[in-house]
Amino acid sequence: MDTCDVIVLGSGHNGLILQAYLARAGLDVLCLESRDEAGGGMTTVEQPAGSGFLHNTHSFFHRGVTLLPWYRDLELERRGAQYITPSFNVGLLCEDGRSLEWWDDFEKTFASFEAVSPEDARTLRRWRNDFVPIVSGILEPETQRPPLPPEVRRKSLSASPEGRLLMETSPLSPLEFVLREFKHPAVQAALLFFNGLREVDLREPGFGHHVPSLMASKRMAQMAAGGTKQVAAALIHAVEEAGGKIRVSSRPRRIIVEHGRAVGVETVSGDVIKARHAVVSSLNPQQTFLELIDESLLPADWVAKARAFRYNLLGPLFALNLNLSDRPRYSAAEKRPELNHAFMFILGIEQPETLLKIVEHHEAGTIPPTVMWGTCPTQFDPSQAPAGRHTAFMWEKLPYRLNGDARNWDAAKAAHGRDMLRAWSRYAPNLNDAVLEMSTASPLDVERTLENMRFGDLLGGSLGHGQTGYNRPFAGAGNYRGHLQGLYLCGSACFPGGNITGMPGYNSAQVVLADLGIDAPWAPGPIESVYAKLAR
Ligand SMILES: Cc1cc2nc3c(=O)[nH]c(=O)nc-3n(C[C@H](O)[C@H](O)[C@H](O)COP(=O)(O)OP(=O)(O)OC[C@H]3O[C@@H](n4cnc5c(N)ncnc54)[C@H](O)[C@@H]3O)c2cc1C
Repeated sequence: MDTCDVIVLGSGHNGLILQAYLARAGLDVLCLESRDEAGGGMTTVEQPAGSGFLHNTHSFFHRGVTLLPWYRDLELERRGAQYITPSFNVGLLCEDGRSLEWWDDFEKTFASFEAVSPEDARTLRRWRNDFVPIVSGILEPETQRPPLPPEVRRKSLSASPEGRLLMETSPLSPLEFVLREFKHPAVQAALLFFNGLREVDLREPGFGHHVPSLMASKRMAQMAAGGTKQVAAALIHAVEEAGGKIRVSSRPRRIIVEHGRAVGVETVSGDVIKARHAVVSSLNPQQTFLELIDESLLPADWVAKARAFRYNLLGPLFALNLNLSDRPRYSAAEKRPELNHAFMFILGIEQPETLLKIVEHHEAGTIPPTVMWGTCPTQFDPSQAPAGRHTAFMWEKLPYRLNGDARNWDAAKAAHGRDMLRAWSRYAPNLNDAVLEMSTASPLDVERTLENMRFGDLLGGSLGHGQTGYNRPFAGAGNYRGHLQGLYLCGSACFPGGNITGMPGYNSAQVVLADLGIDAPWAPGPIESVYAKLAR
């Protein structure tokens, strides 16, 4: 039997970030990972093996990671992580060759919207300007701390004009906000799609502030040099340098509970590992509470809440990955050469109704009209393919249960990949001759690789159904603490949610260390002082 101070379940970036902070605080921390490699959704795979073509089969577009506190605190650059942030960050191509563009320089973003609708461009500027202090003064500091109960938060926000504007805007859904504020269908579609890139459901009330926040934020899409896996490698280095250990191919069978405390983990292979202080799970709440803890040890309402936990309808992604002899060359770049340098392309959407159709198809389990987004990573980092060759990918939001059953994907995915390639070639005709190899990954493949991504939900649970803020993953479990002493949560199912933000791990580490009475000098001060700065 092994004994350590803390056991972490799952080695995605949230688990690794928490583990690194705890290990640096002097705790003996062991992470148990069911796969044969650590890193979770920070993976890069050579396809085919030995070919030199690298594909980032899970996360690729990391939003402003270099601005996040854990990236700095854990010295990831010293450990080999390096990010590339193309200035022309996102381009949405219309069939007539026009583009709506999102640059790191707002004036350029403005100019592209102005070319389509001067009135909408002015509206965008006004909202963006109003939200710059809200993003930097409220929303970003909030995500870097454990969330407050909603009534406490409301009271604090009502003390400042920025907080009041945020509270007026939030109750809307992104759809309501965009349709109310903007007139041109292509502008509406672009803004709603930008919103959807962060997987927020456009119909979800409570996210009306999301579009202006995105426009006001300095955090742009970035890619990791050498592949996403390099960032995981840097995190693993930070963990190991601080004395933390990661045990791969180790699957927990149950969390051991004694005298009302989580005191260890038994693995499927029969190992028993005791934890002196805590077990921290980065898995989803159904795995943690329903599969790893005996039901008799859970309060009845926690069983009910964990069972009722919902996944994102629009969470699943389908991926088409290409190995190429040439990069995609978009026809629209003949008139607008800047497009040759755009990072992310969005294709197939010019009106908001298309997004609503996508939602309907997800509900019906059928394939919607093709709307996709992706990039050619090797245009920005040639190291991800052999010399002179390229990789490129497109993602599409597609339902998990294709025609009622996720297993239908196995027979359907190759043909769907060809459909996507055909649609893509309409914008970049040279693709027809440039493809050397292609592969696809369905929402079912996502779940097969990372079992915590139930139903292909890459965000670790819906951001609707009240599963937000202090009530994420569900009411009572929203402060990273489980129902037992010594049991904590730290994955995407916690506030603020999925994607590569590291905030669930970062915030959970604050809570665990505070409960253990261990100083965390790196932790930001209390959120109350942040609100107080704005109060007037
Ligand atoms: C196709 C795709 C594209 C994506 N693109 C982006 C993107 O561009 N940008 C972005 O920010 N995000 C993206 N994401 C989402 C991102 O990958 C996730 O939100 C993120 O990885 C979640 O991090 P995490 O640390 O919470 O969990 P994960 O990264 O999911 O890690 C969880 C870990 O737990 C392990 N595990 C699961 N079950 C068990 C068990 N029973 N016992 C032990 N270990 C277990 C898993 O193997 C995994 O290593 C994408 C995801 C997918 C699938």
